[in-house]
Amino acid sequence: MSLRELLERKLFPPLRFACRGGGEGAAHLRGLSALCGAIAEEAEKAGHPHEALSKLVEAARAFDRAPAEHRADELRSVLLRVREMVALPPELAAFAGSPSPKEKAEAPAGEAFQLQIQDPTPPPRRPPARRAPSRPAVEAETHAPARIVVPAYAAPLARIPLSTLPGVGPKMEAALAKKGIQSVAHLLFDLPRAYQDRRSVKRIRDLLPGEKGLTFGRVVSTQEIYVRKSRRKIFRVVIEDGADRLALAFFHVWPALVRRFQPGKSFFVWGEVKRFGGSKQIVHPELEEAEERDGGALSAGRIVPVYRGMDEIGQGRVRAVVEEALRRHLSEIPEILPEALRRERGLPSIRETLERIHFPPGKADVEALCAGASPWHRRLAYEELFLLSVGLALKAKGVRVEPGHAFDTSPERLSRALSFLPFSPTAAQRRVIEEIARDMGAPEPMNRLLQGDVGSGKTAVALVACLLAVFDGRQAAVLAPTEILAEQHHRNFSRLLEGSGIDVALLVSTRGARAANEARSRIASGRARIAVGTHALLSAASSFEDLGLVVIDEQHRFGVEQRAELIAKGKRPDVLVMTATPIPRTLSLVLHGELTQSVIDELPPGRTPVLTKVLPARDREKAYRLVEKELAAGHQAYVVYPLIEESERSDLEDATRGLALLRERFPGRRLALLHGRMKAEERDEVMDAFRRGEIDLLVSTTVVEVGVDVPNATVMVVENAERFGLSQLHQLRGRVGRGGKKSACLLVDHGSAEGRRAKERLATLERSNDGFVIAQADLEIRGPGEFLGTRQAGLPELQHADLARDARLLEQARSDAFHLVGRDSDLADPAHRRLATEVMERFAERMSLARVG
Ligand code: ADP
Ligand code: MG
Repeated sequence: MSLRELLERKLFPPLRFACRGGGEGAAHLRGLSALCGAIAEEAEKAGHPHEALSKLVEAARAFDRAPAEHRADELRSVLLRVREMVALPPELAAFAGSPSPKEKAEAPAGEAFQLQIQDPTPPPRRPPARRAPSRPAVEAETHAPARIVVPAYAAPLARIPLSTLPGVGPKMEAALAKKGIQSVAHLLFDLPRAYQDRRSVKRIRDLLPGEKGLTFGRVVSTQEIYVRKSRRKIFRVVIEDGADRLALAFFHVWPALVRRFQPGKSFFVWGEVKRFGGSKQIVHPELEEAEERDGGALSAGRIVPVYRGMDEIGQGRVRAVVEEALRRHLSEIPEILPEALRRERGLPSIRETLERIHFPPGKADVEALCAGASPWHRRLAYEELFLLSVGLALKAKGVRVEPGHAFDTSPERLSRALSFLPFSPTAAQRRVIEEIARDMGAPEPMNRLLQGDVGSGKTAVALVACLLAVFDGRQAAVLAPTEILAEQHHRNFSRLLEGSGIDVALLVSTRGARAANEARSRIASGRARIAVGTHALLSAASSFEDLGLVVIDEQHRFGVEQRAELIAKGKRPDVLVMTATPIPRTLSLVLHGELTQSVIDELPPGRTPVLTKVLPARDREKAYRLVEKELAAGHQAYVVYPLIEESERSDLEDATRGLALLRERFPGRRLALLHGRMKAEERDEVMDAFRRGEIDLLVSTTVVEVGVDVPNATVMVVENAERFGLSQLHQLRGRVGRGGKKSACLLVDHGSAEGRRAKERLATLERSNDGFVIAQADLEIRGPGEFLGTRQAGLPELQHADLARDARLLEQARSDAFHLVGRDSDLADPAHRRLATEVMERFAERMSLARVG
């Protein structure tokens, strides 16, 4: 591969992403320096050293370090470095500043540059096609809106203006452009929002009162009637189909309505038929004028598509234009899915898909079409998930190609490690330990995600992994997001390893420089075999003698760069990241798809589930009585509030005011406040005091979520529970029930606009104690964006696939993608060229992480 090709394939897609919106994308691009480093290395290997490469890496490093507001400037410097080596494609050159004469001449050459997926000015956002009819309607509102994404393979059609189609004049072109449809490609990839079953157009005579029906007739008369009793006008239209007459009634009259029903015009009429007086009538029917051009062929006697926001232009007219676009251009759309795969999975071709999705055949299942579950919708969803998975497979491979250390994970070693546990592992722990041991025993570096509910026993698993590394003469590091968690792990490890001679160091920043230096030198010299710590582990001052395993607890609290920093302190160490926030597998595969995944789906024996109860706010005193009882028994309690201050929503209880009220309610008890605006050390101090039993009642915001273990805390009250996501509430209640004692969680529901639905949602928590079950319910109710909340960064925008619904499809697509990349690891096979381009174009940002993971 030439240097130019290398840069084109690996560097330009992320740069293009960053340049989007005048450099807006730059704020979201991560890990550029690592990518550039990898590219420089590859260029060296391929025999294309270039002095500008090291400057490029420098510039990329500055870019990575720059705050969001300076990113665009740093991006320009990066582009200038690139320009020293090759000519920039037009969109990058435009951002970098005045192009060199050479670029002007060369610009149109590379075909890849023309493959644009998104237009420079993104079309207006539109709400996503809502399909699954079983999903509650509110969900459609909470979803982030999607836009019409034209795949790179259809890019040539994105350059064909709509005005080339007959029937599209300047007015219609402008009207379509307002809906985000600027080209033939946009038209074809703007899928119908719904379908109407107009397969049987009934004669008026055959319409049954009480049923919905479709009929067809010509306007014979219109009439405005004043109804004295209700003091308003009714507009009445009579149509006939040659034999019988039908009345249409409208309870409002406006000029356009009157104008629409010129006598002699023909309409398809759809609605519920009622008997009125002696005749049949439909009130407020759905209407469509029967166009002369298609004579009803497109809009009746078949399943017809309904497009979003096209009522003004006229559904019938849009239908005709779509049909024409398909007739002329469908054959220009190439197939991107490998033929064998398509056959194996029984997926229709892209051409059949687009044709049928707009104009389904007569025998199609309308309900499935409306639910987005037709074979043609499935094909598009599969394609989307497959492309994403190919990207993830490439990323996973990027980590694995470089050899790491193959640890000795023989049964003897494993049982020796297990012998340090004071209990026998659960079946789930045993399975996960085996998965980890298999990875660690392989020569390629492990890159595994371990998910497990709070209290499922991840720490024990982490310890076993650390011991496997230590027995092999290497060091292990455990990175925790807070001091209190680091100390907790350190305490646990030290206790379990007592007398083993294995030195466990604790490295945190607040214990004084002496302690930190002492820990650092033990780690650097290799005297300490396991290092547990916070961000202090990442500092440049911390080094290891021979770091072989990195364990990262609560991984979502760390950025990719932070993980990379720790990983860089070893020589391609094995990596295990852990999270106590169960997310449904579909989401996990999409967010962390480059990692292999393990799940602990079973709690250790002897746990009493936390008794959970939803209470209306007026019954709060009941909750307080229980708190009183538990405090009297010498136990401790939490009261959690969603916000720290009365900010935009004054109806929310806030923790500060709550503290004052609770002080009155619980005189003589020791109360303290914990919130997110406190400094980390202050927070840790309060938590420590609570753990030592010096505080009876901890009033807090949601910061208490993290995996803190205070077995003596037996009751938690959550105010404004309706404001929280189910998974978050589940996390919160995991703070109680940590010991053997019976524990309770009381969810105070202040009611909300959602009313009953919110109540039913909360009731899920009364019924289930399984974090995965709750997460799935939460995902289905709120959709992925809301579900993930602030953690949704990195969630790709999926237009066709539905992560709450398409679990099986995702598994298939993923398995197919990993197989494909396993066989053709660079997608070098000419049959895969288009695929490679598409993946790079579409998932540029994710690909830029290729070497960092
Ligand atoms: P997590 O980190 O997954 O939230 P921990 O590792 O802190 O969970 O484990 C929670 C508690 O369960 C700890 O007190 C631990 O000692 C205990 N535990 C873990 N595994 C087992 C097991 N197999 N049998 C009995 N107790 C266990
Ligand atoms: Mg834990």
